[in-house]
Amino acid sequence: CMKLSEIIQKDQQYYMNTFGNRIPVCFTHGKGLSLWDTEGNEYQDFFAGIAVSALGHSHPAVVNAICEQAQKFIHCSSLYYIEQQAMLAELLVQNSCADRVFFANSGAEANEGAIKLARLYFKKKGFPEKFEIITLEKSFHGRTLATIAATGQDKYQKPYSPLTPKFLKVPINNLEALEKTINGNTCAVMLEPIQGESGVNPTSVEYMKGVRELCSKNGILLIFDEVQCGLGRTGKLFGYQHYGVEPDIFTLAKALAGGFPIGALCAKEFVAAAFEPGDHGSTFGGNPLACNTGYAVLSTIINERLSENAAAMGEYFFDRMTVVTKKYPVIQEVRGKGLMIGIQFNQPIAKELNKKLFEKKYLLGTVGDNILRVLPPLIVTKKDMDGFISVLDEALSEM
Ligand SMILES: *Cc1c(COP(=O)(O)O)cnc(C)c1O
Repeated sequence: CMKLSEIIQKDQQYYMNTFGNRIPVCFTHGKGLSLWDTEGNEYQDFFAGIAVSALGHSHPAVVNAICEQAQKFIHCSSLYYIEQQAMLAELLVQNSCADRVFFANSGAEANEGAIKLARLYFKKKGFPEKFEIITLEKSFHGRTLATIAATGQDKYQKPYSPLTPKFLKVPINNLEALEKTINGNTCAVMLEPIQGESGVNPTSVEYMKGVRELCSKNGILLIFDEVQCGLGRTGKLFGYQHYGVEPDIFTLAKALAGGFPIGALCAKEFVAAAFEPGDHGSTFGGNPLACNTGYAVLSTIINERLSENAAAMGEYFFDRMTVVTKKYPVIQEVRGKGLMIGIQFNQPIAKELNKKLFEKKYLLGTVGDNILRVLPPLIVTKKDMDGFISVLDEALSEM
């Protein structure tokens, strides 16, 4: 294979420079939590490609699903019935509060579908003026024009103003602010049960129950963006299951096919019925290869009880981190649910720490200068966790 220096040279010459100076490594293959680079180094993946590689790398269920389906055929238009699409939709419905599903190719695209469905629902009921959507500050909903408007972070929005109008923002865990913002033009509230990209900020149970009540009382829709927190990541199959509330619409993507691109828009029957023939579509969405892979991943998560493993490993991590936190006062807080974890520092050391961990062959992520994100595959074991915690301890002691 090519040398790292050649790959970097080609990237810098030919690829659009939206990623700047990337971490200087190129992986060639993986197995479980391990990834190997062009120089033969082995790394432990505690980021899972931003909560995507739920079953780790090269899991046999994923590899077989892709190979077997690719040998049969990869694509056919949704003009025709697609067995794998029907199977994955059924599996999602049987295991969630949704009655119907529509497949997209990414999280942003699934969220676009949710926004379209919410607007259309009210238009068809005879309320075309109800098209405002209330979202949370510090949220992240994707990179398309509508989803950056839904996103509550300046840095994603600034380059693309004027934004798609009528996305109103309120602070997280503040019911009063939400109640004040709901008005006659509101069609939906859209939020992540646990915010991922802004540094792992969970909503509270009290807040979520209140949001559900406010939505029901005002006859507006509740949309959960579970693109990151869904599919076992938080210790339950879906994030909303921690709260004892059900959304009317929710979206999935990241982990659904273990790294193969797919997104899902899931809804209760009364809302889903607003989509009639011709109202929405996708060339690639719901293709046999993506859906066969999604079916393999979702059934493995369910059958191998990986949500429970995420809960147990998360608990183990939080438990062991209480000792580490006492040792290093620079750790302000360890927060999150299951294996969706953020470590907040009271000094801007996250980037330097992440670099040290990388040198010690551990892959993690950061948010800003103060937060380290820990998102290992759901198949992570106690032994893997012990390995990471001792390396984290070592890296902190060197700083
Ligand atoms: C990653 C993410 C998205 C966007 O998903 P893409 O597949 O990158 O379009 C949307 N919402 C949340 C909560 C995410 O974490």
